[in-house]
Amino acid sequence: MHEHGIAEELVAAVDRNVNSHGGHGAVKVVVEISPGAVEEESLRTAFELAKQDTTSSGAELVLVPVAQEAFCLNCEKTVLLAPSSMPLSGLLACPACGGVATPAFGTSGVTLKSIEIEV
Ligand SMILES: [Zn+2]
Repeated sequence: MHEHGIAEELVAAVDRNVNSHGGHGAVKVVVEISPGAVEEESLRTAFELAKQDTTSSGAELVLVPVAQEAFCLNCEKTVLLAPSSMPLSGLLACPACGGVATPAFGTSGVTLKSIEIEV
C-alpha cells in the first residue's frame, strides 16, 4: 500500500531528526500533501501503525494540503491545482478547462514540513 511506505519514510525521517537534536521524541509532525498525492485517512492510519515504538509514537500528525502544479495537455500549460481539489479517481481536473491534468510531482507529493521535538 502506497500510504504505508510513505508513513514509514516519514517516521524514519522524524527519527533521524529527533536523534540528531538529542530529543526524546516528536510531539508534532507537520506534513504538506499535494492534491491527489495520498488518501488522507489512509496516511493517518498508516502513520499510527508505523509510529509504534519509534520517536514518533507520541506525535500528532498534522496534514496541511497545499496547491500543486500540474500540466494540462488540453491547455498545453502548467496549471495550479487548489489544495481542495482532491480527486475521486486519482485523476486531477484542470481548473481552466476541466480536462485531465498530470501532476508535476517532484517527489511523492508528500513533504515533511516541520517537526516539534520534545527535549
Ligand atoms: Zn486545461
